[in-house]
Amino acid sequence: MSSDYYATLGVGRDASPEDIKKAYRKLAMRYHPDVASEPDAAEKFKQIGEAYEVLSDPSKRDLYDRGGDPLQNGAGFAPGFGGFDFSTIVDAMFGGAASARGPRSRVARGQDRLERVRLSLVEAAFGATTELRVDSAVLCSTCGGSGAADGAAPVACANCHGRGEISQVKRSFIGDIRTSTPCPACRGFGSVIEHPCSDCYGEGRVRAQRTVTVKIPAGVTTGNRIRLEAHGDVGPGGGPAGDLYVELAVSEHELFSRQGDNLEATLEVPLTAAALGATVEMPTLDAEREEAEPEEAQVEVEIRAGTQTGTRVVVRGRGVPKLRGRGRGDLGITIMVRTPTELDEAQRALLSQLAELRGEQTPILRPKPAKGVFSRLKEAFSG
Ligand SMILES: [Zn+2]
Ligand SMILES: [Zn+2]
Repeated sequence: MSSDYYATLGVGRDASPEDIKKAYRKLAMRYHPDVASEPDAAEKFKQIGEAYEVLSDPSKRDLYDRGGDPLQNGAGFAPGFGGFDFSTIVDAMFGGAASARGPRSRVARGQDRLERVRLSLVEAAFGATTELRVDSAVLCSTCGGSGAADGAAPVACANCHGRGEISQVKRSFIGDIRTSTPCPACRGFGSVIEHPCSDCYGEGRVRAQRTVTVKIPAGVTTGNRIRLEAHGDVGPGGGPAGDLYVELAVSEHELFSRQGDNLEATLEVPLTAAALGATVEMPTLDAEREEAEPEEAQVEVEIRAGTQTGTRVVVRGRGVPKLRGRGRGDLGITIMVRTPTELDEAQRALLSQLAELRGEQTPILRPKPAKGVFSRLKEAFSG
């Protein structure tokens, strides 16, 4: 069941439209996400917007007072309140369905917005707080969303007598056909604002640039969306704001590539170190984090004596923190052996001596057999 809209606005069930508007204006100014510091302000702002959407509209308020909730999709009436009345059904059968609409509300929920944010790999991996400039509809502070310059309530439209639509009856061979069209004088609202607010022209909202702080959790990746409740467009008539979705895109890193929660890097090792063995230090992605501890900023990689190009070393738990759940992925390191270049006299002499000692002055080169079940099978058959 829905919430108590009267309690949400802090007014009695007999509150006048004026009281409701005043209460809403006060609360909306207090809980607007741009000014409020309470952690649940966005949710509160949404709730008071919904309460106002219902209670500011005579037909919605009437429906709510009788136990229905106009914001619950198609709920209409609660059980035991009689459901549709007969004339509505008859109108629907004879083309007069529009009469079931009645005047449309000036207050409605605003639209959701989608913004895109580009992150570095470090920000995506360890989380970040970023400021986002958003161009959206905000509550008009001049009229507090009412749309009226003087704070006066809208008056019934003289053209449609508050019905919001104009009905016409046409004769035809199957009988009278009634059609309804929205009243052009009040655009279907059934009421007109006599002195519209000069800032929002009666819309109750204006466009504005504002800065939204977005907290990005650790472990996000390209395509993830963050939902900021009630940070989208404020609705017409100062109605509840839609949500803001922030879609993330993560830039490539020059050293680390990402595969799920794992990071992959390539480490170049001199020929001598690969042959003799060594322990080298390698910077991690953590090194780019300001708050990283020195021991997090690098890992020791053991290069065993006789390491070949393509050897992989896996360092557990040094990948990307998992977005859901605990722990981190792994850091996979592929070793590339670097052949020495630009040899001077002495180095050339030493390498020649090494070649001589190893009997490699005139090396006999053989293609290396591809290892795998298929190639071994082939060897077996070819004898
Ligand atoms: Zn205004
Ligand atoms: Zn009208």
